[in-house]
Amino acid sequence: MNETPVLDVQDLSVQFRLSRGLFRRKRVVRAVSDVSLTVAPGETLGLVGESGSGKSTLGRAILRLVPITSGRVVVHGRDVGGLRARALRRAREQMQMVFQDPYSSLDPSMTIGANIAEPLEVFQGLRGRERDQRVVELLELVNLSPYHIHRYPYEFSGGQRQRIAIARAIAVRPALVVCDEPVSALDVSTQNQIINLLEDLRAELGLSYLFIAHDLAVVRHISHRTAVMYLGRIVELGPSDRVYEDPAHPYTQALISAVPIPDPVKARQGNRIILRGGLPDPGNAPSGCPFNTRCPFAMEICRTRMPGMTPLDRGGEVACHLQTSGPTLAGRT
Ligand code: SF4
Repeated sequence: MNETPVLDVQDLSVQFRLSRGLFRRKRVVRAVSDVSLTVAPGETLGLVGESGSGKSTLGRAILRLVPITSGRVVVHGRDVGGLRARALRRAREQMQMVFQDPYSSLDPSMTIGANIAEPLEVFQGLRGRERDQRVVELLELVNLSPYHIHRYPYEFSGGQRQRIAIARAIAVRPALVVCDEPVSALDVSTQNQIINLLEDLRAELGLSYLFIAHDLAVVRHISHRTAVMYLGRIVELGPSDRVYEDPAHPYTQALISAVPIPDPVKARQGNRIILRGGLPDPGNAPSGCPFNTRCPFAMEICRTRMPGMTPLDRGGEVACHLQTSGPTLAGRT
């Protein structure tokens, strides 16, 4: 895709300083390190990784909901990294978020009509009939009856609440919607309905999504490209079909091997890769490749040298010393 990206992230890092222990010793946690990615107009980029990999922090940093330590974030042609509070509020018209818990964006004391109307009033100054008409249209867009307009969020099921949160997020037609585990708390059939709704809205309104989830099957279904995150870094990124059919990074291979296969014959043929240990402490990340403490293929170089992103002939790029045949995109050490 050669169009100007809706989202352009370059070398983004997020660090937290935590105080700990009796003497309140400070330590630095690198939640996100040197992440670069883009999202094209109308594209869905999936972001996967274990819990604690930094994917939600990355999503929040892009929307400036957590402070950026270094790097650049450009949304819809605007560098949002250095914006002050008032300019940032205005920029939020172009970048919205759908959370795992809809209550994170819905005010339980307001009717759903008022919840959806709020961004229309704040960003577009709509009032009266024009605003109310738009709220009705939005409810219909997310397949909810306008009959519900005066009811409160607690009167709805989890799936319906997520539809309301989506209606609010897309109310002002943002360029970018960051979806942070939007279906993780829902049952499987409701998950499918919400995923299909997000797909339909993207196609109809030309939205672009950064879709964050730990469920690889869900991400594969909805994403044009997939990025895999480990310990705050992108370790593989490419077209979703290539990443899932032919994963290049040992961590991606392990994640995909753990996805349940419905066909018992294929499941028996599949080689499940069991990773050693858990995710290392982000405040005490291993030197060299961050995956070297769990990688079944770790070599001497992996303990001392960070692999740069290497393009793959079959599409996308990967950060692994096993793939050093191509030129290095970012040969960080
Ligand atoms: Fe494994 Fe080394 Fe590749 Fe890291 S660089 S994933 S440790 S082989």
